[in-house]
Amino acid sequence: MRDNLALVRHCAGPREVIASIKANAYGLGVVGIAQALVDAGVEKLWTGNPDEAVALREAGITAQILLFGGVRPKHFPVLLAYDLQPTLFEDQSAELLAAAALAAGKRARVWVKVDAGLGRLGVPLEQAGAFIRRLASEPALELRGVYTHLPFASQDGRAWAIDRYSAFKQLTVDLAQSGVSIPVTQAWGSSGLLSGAPDSSTAVCVGHALYGLSPLTPELASRKELKPLVKSLSADIIRVDYATESTSQAGGYALSKRRRPATVAIGLGDGLRPAASGHSARVIAGGRCVPVAAFTLEHLMIDLGGENCAALFDQATIVGRVGHAEITLDDWAHWTGASPLELMMSLSGRIPVVHEE
Ligand SMILES: *Cc1c(COP(=O)(O)O)cnc(C)c1O
Repeated sequence: MRDNLALVRHCAGPREVIASIKANAYGLGVVGIAQALVDAGVEKLWTGNPDEAVALREAGITAQILLFGGVRPKHFPVLLAYDLQPTLFEDQSAELLAAAALAAGKRARVWVKVDAGLGRLGVPLEQAGAFIRRLASEPALELRGVYTHLPFASQDGRAWAIDRYSAFKQLTVDLAQSGVSIPVTQAWGSSGLLSGAPDSSTAVCVGHALYGLSPLTPELASRKELKPLVKSLSADIIRVDYATESTSQAGGYALSKRRRPATVAIGLGDGLRPAASGHSARVIAGGRCVPVAAFTLEHLMIDLGGENCAALFDQATIVGRVGHAEITLDDWAHWTGASPLELMMSLSGRIPVVHEE
């Protein structure tokens, strides 16, 4: 991840790099990832979940913690107690937070999210100027920054995002001209950063690229330089059956096929996904790629084929390299129809993780 951060910093130039650690740091474990980022000099961490933000503080992380949407008035006392910086995009929350800050004798540091066209979260662009001016004049609130989100994957998406970025930029220029000071402006995540979209903001907020993933289609960028963070995933073989021989007749020739079923102790309950129809998933066992015959909640049924290539209690490699055989998260994405990020997220439940230093 440190290498990915270096690449992100290189692309960001003078812009500050804010790290997106939402969704349990994209499934990789929010405290460990946050600590590594802070150790590497990242000053602002952006998450979406107040409980994860509190967990970071309780783990002793003192960096600035920003919150995307998802904060409700019931969280305000916790935000103020733990010095967390929420995002606002409507008046009711802004008024309630100002009142809570006043009652606590504090000034709440806040961010504003603008919906520049994506249609998910944020104050609509047309109303953003007036909303931000109201916030900026509220003494119990300290406006730390204004941001938007314009993710994309393709060339067409990039053109759309750059058009929406221009409208967002105009808003920040207008606000500055009317005397509203905005310390941080931010529009691009990994897609804008990696594809070199124009930017006069002061910061970028990056997730995918830090975790070795590119959201871009190959037409827009090669992902060679990014290093994947999920390097290997393996599980024990807990049963190796006797080989059986089946013979079928095809076009007058007798075809014989040796099967040797085996069972691996990892399954759907650990976050693996079954192969989509028309695809066959594989694992490495006994140094060779072998097909997965079935997925169950706790197990994979694999077929070792004719040769007695793997023994009871050997490890099967789900992701990783053994000799010349290699299986990547991209291969699983291809077999299952899920994106590498979705796979990373779904594997993040109960599998013990070892972080390499
Ligand atoms: C998740 C998120 C990002 C980071 O996006 P990546 O594509 O993972 O780099 C940036 N900004 C906002 C508002 C986000 O929600």
